[in-house]
Amino acid sequence: MESNRKKTIVVQHGTLIDGSGKPPTSNDALVIEGNRIRSTGRLPADVTLEDRDHVQVIDASGQWIMPGLIDGHCHLSFGFPQIAGVSTARGTTSAEFSTLRAARNAQKVLRAGVTSLSVPGGTWFIDVAVRDAIAAGLIEGPRIFCAGRFIVTYGSITDNEPSWVGTPDHVNGVLANSVTEMITEVRRQCKHGVNFIKMADSTWGDTQTISREELAAVVQEAHRRNARVTIHSRGAGSTRAAAEAGVDWILHADLATEAELEAVAAAGARLMPTMTFLRRGVEVGREFGRGPREVDRMRHHLDGAVSMLEQAHALGIKVLCGTDSGNSPLMPYGALHAQEPEILVHYARYTPMEAIVACTRENAFAVGLENDLGVLEAGKLADLLILKADPLADIRALQDARNLALVMKDGKSIDLDGSAVEQDTLLFAQPARA
Ligand SMILES: [Zn+2]
Repeated sequence: MESNRKKTIVVQHGTLIDGSGKPPTSNDALVIEGNRIRSTGRLPADVTLEDRDHVQVIDASGQWIMPGLIDGHCHLSFGFPQIAGVSTARGTTSAEFSTLRAARNAQKVLRAGVTSLSVPGGTWFIDVAVRDAIAAGLIEGPRIFCAGRFIVTYGSITDNEPSWVGTPDHVNGVLANSVTEMITEVRRQCKHGVNFIKMADSTWGDTQTISREELAAVVQEAHRRNARVTIHSRGAGSTRAAAEAGVDWILHADLATEAELEAVAAAGARLMPTMTFLRRGVEVGREFGRGPREVDRMRHHLDGAVSMLEQAHALGIKVLCGTDSGNSPLMPYGALHAQEPEILVHYARYTPMEAIVACTRENAFAVGLENDLGVLEAGKLADLLILKADPLADIRALQDARNLALVMKDGKSIDLDGSAVEQDTLLFAQPARA
């Protein structure tokens, strides 16, 4: 039916930063049909700008057009961060409340210009449900690619209760203490629709909690079921073991030295340093009730990550961008997603263009869409930002939502009303009471 025909969208003028790493070009016409980019460059002969019944024109004169940001590490459904007035002690918030909160937070993330999220772990199967509700158009949010609860062994991250309590469903980790238990958990999570498996080894420092046999078993089982695998690994030994076991991307790797990074490069694994959380912890951790030893530990890991990142860059390892937003009260949603590219520029001597490529084209891998997303060219998904400031002149232009003239996901413009920092964001970011 003619009246139902979708309008062709033409973005005219402006400077195009296409996400491929190519130098910026002056944009003539970026043409979108449905949820995909039809063409860039010259306007196709069959598109008539005056045909306003069928063509919507967006004028980006004096502005910058780039792919939508991808945050490769954001948790939507932890038991925290807190909302003022709601009791959340130790993750005992219900699945129902946590799901609604995750849906609301997903909307905040999208309105900050993040059109896709990789979610490496949460509670219950909330992230699967939020992903599917967004994809079905029930609620507004970024495209989501998610894991289930982290697979951990006794004493690893998230196993905070005594062994007779274990890891209830409201904990974002799940205990599996043998190869058999790990394979069973991978199968259970795949049955419930996760996109990838998250393991968690060395919490801080270098202690290894998952054996080589277990790592290999998880990778083999997940890959057989077309699920990718990532791992929380801050230590050197666990980073090497994860790379050799075939883990697809490694989170943190703060303490890896050149020898381990050579193993990562040889395995073709990607790294996602996730330094935003460490820097934020060093800067404001004390205000949020973190003790001096904890802040010192974060500083130690931040220093390690800086030198690791410089070496990884030199070795040509693909580096992805993630922030760990939502992992604790000091990591509010919608506020920190563009800090990681700035950190790449200021700590690891990336150019602003390289940093943009890391959080667009390279990060598409962390959402399983490396052939479809992250670059503005014909055939790719139409996720884009139009910015009022040049991110190549100052990468921090990506951090201020007031610079967003337009956020488009899947060919649809997002209503940015109410995208300024809202009251509940401020409440949510309140330091914990000591
Ligand atoms: Zn995390």
